[in-house]
Amino acid sequence: MKLSELKTGERAVIVKVLGHGGFRKRIIEMGFIKGQVVEVLLNAPLQDPVKYRIMNYEVSLRHDEANLIEVVSESDFTPEEADETIRGFIAKDELLQEVARKKRKTINVALVGNPNCGKTSLFNFASGAHERVGNYSGVTVDAKEGTAVFEGYEFHLVDLPGTYSLSAYSPEEIYVRKQIIEHTPDVVLNVIDTSNLERNLYLTTQLIDMHIRMVCALNMFDETERRGDHIDEQKLSELFGVPMVPTVFKSGRGVEDLFHTIIEMYEGTEGTTANYRHIHIFHGHEIEDGITNIQKYLKGNEDLRPHYSTRFLAIKLLEGDHVAEEAIREKTPYEKEILAARDNAARRIKEETLTDAETAVMDAKYGFIHGALEEAGYAPGTQKDTYQITHFIDAILTHKWLGLPIFIVLIWLMFEVTFSLGQYPMDWIDAGVAWLGDIISSTMPEGPVKAMLIDGIIGGVGSVIVFLPQILILYGFISFMEDSGYMARAAFIMDKLMHKMGLHGKSFIPLIMGFGCNVPAVMATRTIESRRSRLITMLVLPLMSCSARLPIYIMIIGTFFATQYRSTIMISLYVTGIILAVILSRVFSRYLIKGEDTPFVMELPPYRFPTWKAIFRHTWEKGKQYLKKMGGIILVASIIVWALGYFPHQEGIGQQAQQEQSYIGRMGKAVEPVFRAQGFDWKLDVALISGVGAKEIVASTMGVLYADDNSFADDNHYASDNDKYTSLRQKMEHDGITPLISISFLLFVLIYFPCIATIVAIKNESGSWRWAFFTALYTTMLAWIVSAVAYQVGSLIL
Ligand code: GDP
Ligand code: MG
Repeated sequence: MKLSELKTGERAVIVKVLGHGGFRKRIIEMGFIKGQVVEVLLNAPLQDPVKYRIMNYEVSLRHDEANLIEVVSESDFTPEEADETIRGFIAKDELLQEVARKKRKTINVALVGNPNCGKTSLFNFASGAHERVGNYSGVTVDAKEGTAVFEGYEFHLVDLPGTYSLSAYSPEEIYVRKQIIEHTPDVVLNVIDTSNLERNLYLTTQLIDMHIRMVCALNMFDETERRGDHIDEQKLSELFGVPMVPTVFKSGRGVEDLFHTIIEMYEGTEGTTANYRHIHIFHGHEIEDGITNIQKYLKGNEDLRPHYSTRFLAIKLLEGDHVAEEAIREKTPYEKEILAARDNAARRIKEETLTDAETAVMDAKYGFIHGALEEAGYAPGTQKDTYQITHFIDAILTHKWLGLPIFIVLIWLMFEVTFSLGQYPMDWIDAGVAWLGDIISSTMPEGPVKAMLIDGIIGGVGSVIVFLPQILILYGFISFMEDSGYMARAAFIMDKLMHKMGLHGKSFIPLIMGFGCNVPAVMATRTIESRRSRLITMLVLPLMSCSARLPIYIMIIGTFFATQYRSTIMISLYVTGIILAVILSRVFSRYLIKGEDTPFVMELPPYRFPTWKAIFRHTWEKGKQYLKKMGGIILVASIIVWALGYFPHQEGIGQQAQQEQSYIGRMGKAVEPVFRAQGFDWKLDVALISGVGAKEIVASTMGVLYADDNSFADDNHYASDNDKYTSLRQKMEHDGITPLISISFLLFVLIYFPCIATIVAIKNESGSWRWAFFTALYTTMLAWIVSAVAYQVGSLIL
């Protein structure tokens, strides 16, 4: 527990002091040392500061500060332990100290580093977990936690997302910073891809600014050896003031050494060698003066000091970092003064160095790195390495002329295989669902429960589960492309085109995933650093026709159009969605979400042949999100749609008449005037309403409404698909539905309200309901307009 949680009169023993170096030093100087007994003299509610007795002195600490001191108190005793102290076998303080000693054996280690530097590999190796090792950035988005035991210590490892820096440009960067500042790990393990030393050390310099306990792993050491690099890691450690341990996480080489170093760092038994010291990276006089000036205002502030190193905060302010500015706004009353000091310093830097402060700080850091590498005699080798093979493959795959055609062929192949191969398991599942329905149908007594089971649950969920094979095959392809490194190239090839749309090359991957299911696709937008591009991508994603809309297309197109036109119409629908997405993203980027795109690296990791195990696992992870959607929202939506169609219930009037007089039928009739411009009748309106929960339900609803029975769900009812379509066509034509209306309907289905699950995903990823509502609204309005125009213009021509 935390020291701040103790009540007046309680005693506890200190386990450890958290927080950055400056804070820890001050607290430890006050006597708050591990193993010491501390007693609360006065801690009234709302009392700040709180009075403590430690080493027979009376000291006061602010609540915020006491919150960063971990202690054990009597309430942490197990019942047996408490029993022993009550009977007086052991003195309370001794037992407290014993418990504290045990608690101290847990070390919280946060893994921080660039994407693809090997963090997850270490995490898996050490904790025995099976997290995904990816070859594409942004694979680890959430923090994964695991434990490893070494030399009697329990390492609590947190695998954080990969970042190149600690600025506030991407959600990953903000997330990593927040983890370090708020969750205060005992030791930060900075994993470095040594084959890319200079770039990786940039993050290291920023971590040094934060003044935290840190150990660096010089990972991928095997690759540098193969290449023949010369690296003096001892010298480098001294220059950076951080211990650096050569490692190969793929095989586990150096991990023991690394963990040993972490323990030393944690226990403070490392002594006073040069590689365990806090250095200040010198940024040049102009910047350093600025930092000192800003720091003056920060240093006196008791609310900031426990959480931030003032130097780090000052540097961040100089860089114009908005998260740092928010911290100032929240925690100090001196926002104006501090920002004025910042602006003043930034102006001087600009005058003296002719660059803006942010660039000047970055240049200074790279200057430091360059100097350190020179001094340590670093020299990259000339031997063959993985990058050479990669360069060779890249010369073909990202070739100016060849790149795009190869890419298009691959994507075409992906969809072709997905749909043709997916057909077989799809038919099996279809048959299985029908069989299940038959069994229940023949064994259960009539009534609402049976109707709900067959029409609501099996009908609704069954029509969705059928798409699982296709989705898994599609995701299998995507996982292979991601893990092998090709997806990064695809993003690279598409980058120029995407920029014209106001998007980023990385937007491309979520957009492709959208053809499977919009929900995981919306989640995949997390890898896009720029908030602006991320938002726009999310907003236009629903226009990527997801597989749930496919059965509606198949049913309508099959019903109204001759075989030779079917595939053309189908492809036109997909293309229409894509064209609309292009237009809208341009409109959004121009008028709605303004701002400059911040440029950022598109990393091209070396090609690697992914393991089958990895591909299966990643495919499954993506497919799981689809299944979750089915178990939750679609199940509920199916039952609601069923209930709206079942109640009020009249026996023996036929299914169609029942639907007509049911709630959903009345809703359809009520909105009929709204869709007069499209020529829809109330039955089509009902089908559209049922699709709000999930598009999958639209087709089955139409089947019931027009056929007046379940014959469309029953595969054995018609001798062939053609019979089925002919019969449906007659029924629909009887109701006045023409091929033109069907086209207008298809367009509406393509564009309107994606589905509840997608809207919720957009809310979660954008962080506000505002964008979710906006998406729901604009898609539906656009659908109305496009389908109305299609019908009206079509009516004039035909
Ligand atoms: P993360 O993005 O930092 O989590 O990096 P990963 O753990 O996903 O690793 C990226 C790739 O580098 C994977 O293909 C690993 O197998 C590979 N890898 C990790 N550590 C090493 C290493 O020490 N040497 C070599 N040659 N490859 C490594
Ligand atoms: Mg990872």
